Amino acid sequence: MSQSKLLLDMNIDELSGFVLAHSQPLFRAKQLYEWLNKGADLDEMKNLPIAFLSTLKDEGYRAQGVKIVKRLTSQKDGTIKYLYSLSDGNVIEGVLMKYKYGNTLCVSTQVGCRMGCVFCASTLDGLVRNLTAGEILGQVIAVNRENSTEDSRGVTNIVLMGSGEPLDNYDNVCKFLSLVSDEKGLNISRRNVSLSTCGLCEKIRQLADDGYSPTMTISLHAPNDEMRKEIMPIAKKYSISDIISAVKYYFDKTGRRIIFEYSMISGKNDTEDCARELAKVIKGLSCHINLIPLNYVKERGLDGSSKKNIYRFQAILEGHGVSVTVRRSMGSDIEGACGQLRRKVLEGNESL
Ligand code: SAH
Repeated sequence: MSQSKLLLDMNIDELSGFVLAHSQPLFRAKQLYEWLNKGADLDEMKNLPIAFLSTLKDEGYRAQGVKIVKRLTSQKDGTIKYLYSLSDGNVIEGVLMKYKYGNTLCVSTQVGCRMGCVFCASTLDGLVRNLTAGEILGQVIAVNRENSTEDSRGVTNIVLMGSGEPLDNYDNVCKFLSLVSDEKGLNISRRNVSLSTCGLCEKIRQLADDGYSPTMTISLHAPNDEMRKEIMPIAKKYSISDIISAVKYYFDKTGRRIIFEYSMISGKNDTEDCARELAKVIKGLSCHINLIPLNYVKERGLDGSSKKNIYRFQAILEGHGVSVTVRRSMGSDIEGACGQLRRKVLEGNESL
């Protein structure tokens, strides 16, 4: 079945054209759209004519493209790890993290990834395919549906930090950004959506030019190009100074402060010299740094830094006036890191 047969891929204007082309009155588009955003399948759309729904089925259309097939709940912090299946049999994963201010869902944008970062489990087999806008949205809708109550939303914040490089799937991600913040759809404020990238500089600028303004999070992970190239192949294409000028551009256009992610690898990027160098590199930029202890990924054989090293690193940055936090590691008892659960399934060590 072709992926373009996913109704959730359509925005309200496209759905309007679609229902008219099926000789239905225009108001059917609104009905369909409401059902789709509630996570309903065709069989559940009670106020739509049965004949219309059967035509859609006969033509091979599906309402939802993402199905939750497994949930693992952390006993430590309530984090829920989800495994989803797609209509072509691929599996992707996501994580729902519960904070005082709301629930943040980490969303995947690709099956696999072609960026090749040495510490990341998502990229071990390369890129399988891009997700469509409706498949990215479908993750939010499915998790929102099962976590919402009458007076609270299941998902209030979104981070595009699951498997995949969002800016390597630019058009679908932009469409997703429009769909998810649509007032008649899930209506999640653009302020509550973050996009994490390894730093595709042209696309960072393009996103600002195209009028999207998610919180821009850059996976930096090293204070100089030499070290960055050893752990992130993309560093051979874009230098840290290329990234700094792209994010300055993004900040000037959108007014959104930049966040840098810095995953701390024992004996690699966690020395005092690295901290001082990092402070120099980002000097004068309106930004914040998140330090994250590297999650151990067995295929990679790299260890996370000790708490002591992380706090020492943080103190040095603070001494230079840098805004910095150490990210709490959530769901570490349930394969919380990017791509780990999917790998287990692919290796046959985790059943669906
Ligand atoms: N491709 C995007 C988003 C996906 S990865 C990006 O590079 O930002 C989301 C974040 O998790 C990135 O900062 C990535 O570098 C980090 N990450 C991947 N594997 C990790 C691991 N084993 N431990 C800690 N962080 C990891």
